[in-house]
Amino acid sequence: MRVELAEVFGFCPGVRRAVEMVERYLAENGRLSTLGAIVHNAQVVEELAQKGARVVESLAEVRDGAVAITAHGAGPEVFQEIQRRGLFLVDTTCPIVRRAQEAAREFAEEGFFVLIYGEEAHPEVRGLLSWTRGHGKATLNPSEVQEIEGERLALISQTTKGRAEFWSFVANVVARLGSRLREVRALDTTCPETGRRYQAVQNLAEKVEALVVVGSRNSANTRKLAEVARHTGLPTFHIERAEELRPEWFHGISRVGVTAGASTPDHLVAEVVARLEKLGGDS
Ligand code: SF4
Repeated sequence: MRVELAEVFGFCPGVRRAVEMVERYLAENGRLSTLGAIVHNAQVVEELAQKGARVVESLAEVRDGAVAITAHGAGPEVFQEIQRRGLFLVDTTCPIVRRAQEAAREFAEEGFFVLIYGEEAHPEVRGLLSWTRGHGKATLNPSEVQEIEGERLALISQTTKGRAEFWSFVANVVARLGSRLREVRALDTTCPETGRRYQAVQNLAEKVEALVVVGSRNSANTRKLAEVARHTGLPTFHIERAEELRPEWFHGISRVGVTAGASTPDHLVAEVVARLEKLGGDS
């Protein structure tokens, strides 16, 4: 079976940078704790664990040594607590997330109520919300925005949301709140990397008969990528590792496309490609 790769797939620059920073620290110092998984990918977490990284859910679990903040970033109270506990900080916050955090902080300091287009429970969004210091809210649903504090509204986005979705959310919220607003500012803080991966899978769909999306089921960006792949109308298989591939999925198929979420390492994709090539199919 012929395997085609998407033009852009796998680790985005922010995740690659985070993993490299942690690996570099581990190579020099032997161990560190990461506040949450550094990447939403079980295999990568396992590989880092073997090199000395321990995932913790709270700073209370870290008695000494170093702690890494993930590419999703964290709120100001987390940085203060790290300092208070005398821990060494390895801050892998993605520069694009950092810009969104700065926007959240600056808008709030200027007296705007900050509305974040994003999933409230997502670690990046929880961090963004913290930077508003209580003057913000996160939602994906414009109808949940009945009223805001004051008359000045600023809107930003979770970085992994689509640009078009964000602007439609902005338009919807502004239409709902209408005359209650005196001033509105909206800043597109979405990350172009996510859109590039979606576009690449759509381009790939024109050349193949089925799509395989590689990445963790608990990774929001991989799940969304799989959704975009399914929307192309082609049979789509979301798998975490090569062993999950079933020969019967590819009966009658001679060309298959492969892509991977932003938290999927290159070697997992290479294993999937190698297995697909061996599976055969129709050619
Ligand atoms: S998807 Fe974009 S914002 Fe998120 S970590 Fe990657 S580069 Fe940074």
